[in-house]
Amino acid sequence: MRAAVLHEARDLRIEDVPEPSPGPGEVLVRPRFAGLCGSDLHFWEGGLRGVVQDPLILGHEFSAEVVEVGPGVDDPAIRPGALASVEPMWTCGQCAPCRRGTYNFCRNMVWHGLSPKGGGMSALTVVRASMVHVLPESLTAVQGALVEPISVAHHAVSKARVPVGGSALVLGAGPIGIAVFLDLRARGVERIVVSEPSPDRRAAIAHLATLTGGGADLVLDPAAVDVPAAVRELTGGEGVDASIDAAGVEPAFHAAIAATRPGGRAVTVAVYMKPVTFHPMAAFLGGVDIVASCAYCNDFPAVIDGLVNGSYPLDGWVRPIPLEGVAAGFAALERGTELKLLVDVQGP
Ligand SMILES: [Zn+2]
Ligand SMILES: [Zn+2]
Repeated sequence: MRAAVLHEARDLRIEDVPEPSPGPGEVLVRPRFAGLCGSDLHFWEGGLRGVVQDPLILGHEFSAEVVEVGPGVDDPAIRPGALASVEPMWTCGQCAPCRRGTYNFCRNMVWHGLSPKGGGMSALTVVRASMVHVLPESLTAVQGALVEPISVAHHAVSKARVPVGGSALVLGAGPIGIAVFLDLRARGVERIVVSEPSPDRRAAIAHLATLTGGGADLVLDPAAVDVPAAVRELTGGEGVDASIDAAGVEPAFHAAIAATRPGGRAVTVAVYMKPVTFHPMAAFLGGVDIVASCAYCNDFPAVIDGLVNGSYPLDGWVRPIPLEGVAAGFAALERGTELKLLVDVQGP
């Protein structure tokens, strides 16, 4: 069967790999759409770096059709033909974080799509039944592939604790920043400021802001504008209830703290590749709680409901590409000319 396999940095091949079969508690699925994400891009740029030994089948953000259930899978919703979104974490259920209910910090975590377990950019793959979220009939395979990245945003927005009618600053309008914006909007946050240096991305978020009602409150270019000053002006000198950093660069980290009101939260959801120099007095004097949000935990059901309700329109930020186009897709992501690319795994 065909799969997109990363051998080393910039060496991705579409090749034949052995077909897997489901063991007890497992499900054989046929992936439909699989997103390219920032973590995939890090592997594409840096190679496997000893994180895994063998070539890697990519794809941790994906929708799939159930093909065959293994022994002991008794959920009646998980039946051949059902369309599902896969939550790509193999967790142990036994370690302290798992027992505490924070399975996103499982000590023995293995990511589907970033490990020898296989991935979604593959004609078939095997996952555990508990990872399979069967979708309501009204959702498409494209929407199903976005449940994972939107869940990252949903988790971060939950941690931001912005009250209904409140205000927020979003730093970075890549796919996660966009999903954060839509999620804030869906929760009734009224004033949302977005800071993003790319004009294309600013245009994408401004369009989504119009679609979702409120209009773009303020979409700023951080290269041209003092973002915290603009935010204070909009909020009567006070600052926003929360800032969410989906940019992952040092100026965004500082702006998030400087733009947040006393008692508010600065949430980091971005993956930082470099450390930042940070003076703790900024948070101390500003009265800002700095919070980190990693992946998601029990967020898939709420995001699936949100997709059904139309909270997350996909206009202008999601584009399908063929399996053969994965390498070209990574190159485009490096140039910053795309938002979310979804691989059409079974091909048009
Ligand atoms: Zn991802
Ligand atoms: Zn665990």
